[in-house]
Amino acid sequence: MTTTQKYLEKRDRLVTDYLTGNVQFRLAKTGMTNLFRYGGNARREKSGLMVDDFNHVLNVDPRAATIDVEGLATIETIVEATMQHGLLPKVSPELKHITVGGAIVGIGIESSCFLHGFFHDSVLEAEVLLPTGQIVSCSNNNEHADLFHALPNSFGTLGYVLRATLNLIRAGNLVQLTNTKYDNVAAYMDGFTGQIDNPEGEFLEGLFYNNKELYLTSGRFISQAADPISIYRGAPYYKKARMAGKIYMRTVDYIFRFDPDWFWNVPDTGPYEIFRKLAPRRWRNSSFYTRYTRLKRRICSLLRMHNPDEEELIQDWVVPWDRATEFISFITENIDIQGQPWVALPIVPQQPATLYPLEPGRKYMNIGCYCFVRKPDQGQDYYYTKILDRLCFKMGGIKMLYSSTFLTENEFDAVYNGERYRLLKQEYDPNARALTLYQKVAAKL
Ligand SMILES: Cc1cc2nc3c(=O)[nH]c(=O)nc-3n(C[C@H](O)[C@H](O)[C@H](O)COP(=O)(O)OP(=O)(O)OC[C@H]3O[C@@H](n4cnc5c(N)ncnc54)[C@H](O)[C@@H]3O)c2cc1C
Repeated sequence: MTTTQKYLEKRDRLVTDYLTGNVQFRLAKTGMTNLFRYGGNARREKSGLMVDDFNHVLNVDPRAATIDVEGLATIETIVEATMQHGLLPKVSPELKHITVGGAIVGIGIESSCFLHGFFHDSVLEAEVLLPTGQIVSCSNNNEHADLFHALPNSFGTLGYVLRATLNLIRAGNLVQLTNTKYDNVAAYMDGFTGQIDNPEGEFLEGLFYNNKELYLTSGRFISQAADPISIYRGAPYYKKARMAGKIYMRTVDYIFRFDPDWFWNVPDTGPYEIFRKLAPRRWRNSSFYTRYTRLKRRICSLLRMHNPDEEELIQDWVVPWDRATEFISFITENIDIQGQPWVALPIVPQQPATLYPLEPGRKYMNIGCYCFVRKPDQGQDYYYTKILDRLCFKMGGIKMLYSSTFLTENEFDAVYNGERYRLLKQEYDPNARALTLYQKVAAKL
């Protein structure tokens, strides 16, 4: 039986189980999740849809530069399959265990977004299990184009992606990175603008530490390099990138450069240096690290060990290009991120996304923070998260919903196109078998 035949068989079985059993319209996924809601994620439902096995590549078409893949396949699986043909997804999220479906409905980004938009912009077609139990195929120009454009930021509330076809790009085996250091935010933004207006390579991102130490890294494919660096041994990638000059990496290592240290969250202290040197490769990934931190958090909570002066700030905000200098300046002048970097990632969306309403063709800056920051004395819970949320929305920006939101339902509707969402819900989930987006991300149900 071919992988496609197996897929069709699994798909039919899933629908039958859903329609005939007492199955909730939720994923019963046993693998990794990349949701990061403060105070914990919703419980995983054992009575949900059994989709773990929807994790295969169905076909890579090197001529058309496309891949047909099941919805729970991880980006690691996809990159492995496509690189055999010298191809890569247009946007490959940096954490290996993010899945195709998760990246479509939860907004996937990477340093190629200045050229190709978001992960969902490279989707040609998606097969979706609706809460009604019906399967529909949607694309930019078929009768379900409204669903297609509403998948990004829907978090599974309109349906689950069981299969998708993605556009790919030609890729070399090696990447050359050029780091440029800036000592003020305005010049930093000028540097980004120059690179976007006259792109010389395939990748562009920044890491900044304060308003006098800001790095812009541009990357391009090359065919030969003297000495590609490893992301698994020695100093973590972000430390290697904290200097002006050139770095060479294998393309696959570049894509997953932040994965072994979950950005910069594996501490840079003696015991962890030994861990970096000796741990088997299978432990050097974000999935292992996430399990470890969740266990540590549970133990700390049992022992009531909590540092009230620190705030976990794990968020991505997107602001219009002409407000980015102000946003970055506010951050660097007001927030003590304790020596860790923030990420600046330029994005030019390619297609309209109904529930993540940004303007196609317009430049935006995505700013990400993935660690602890120091709060002011007596600062309330989620102190900086709330301040930055307000500033971002005031600037006409938006933020990803894998992390917590503190908006009221009315405010949420205004930012994420609630009016249109309700109509789509009526059309694709008339019996309300799935949660609403607000219930799922704000109330964490
Ligand atoms: C610390 C952190 C760092 C991040 N860094 C990056 C990054 O570098 N690059 C990037 O692109 N993204 C990043 N993200 C965001 C990430 O891409 C999204 O959170 C994405 O939704 C995670 O996908 P997942 O496969 O892990 O899905 P899960 O975490 O398992 O699920 C996320 C949501 O998507 C829904 N979902 C999952 N699969 C499907 C499906 N097949 N069909 C429909 N709905 C589905 C689930 O119901 C759930 O609501 C980061 C998130 C965190 C927390």
